[in-house]
Amino acid sequence: MGSYCRYCGRRCFVLRVLPAGHRCGELCAIAAHTWCLATCRDGAEHDRSRTGFDHKTAINPYTRRTGGDSA
Ligand SMILES: [Zn+2]
Repeated sequence: MGSYCRYCGRRCFVLRVLPAGHRCGELCAIAAHTWCLATCRDGAEHDRSRTGFDHKTAINPYTRRTGGDSA
């Protein structure tokens, strides 16, 4: 969360849980994983191509539901 987004230059990240089965590493096929996902358009596109999810399709850990722009 401490770094700036390389696409929009802001701290556009929100905390999201990627469900088991996402693509980002070996263990992630069996474990959910908390990531900071970008909310800007280009950042979300990057997240999508990298993990298969963006901030709208991953799970919001506060509401336990997918989607939304809120942190
Ligand atoms: Zn961004």
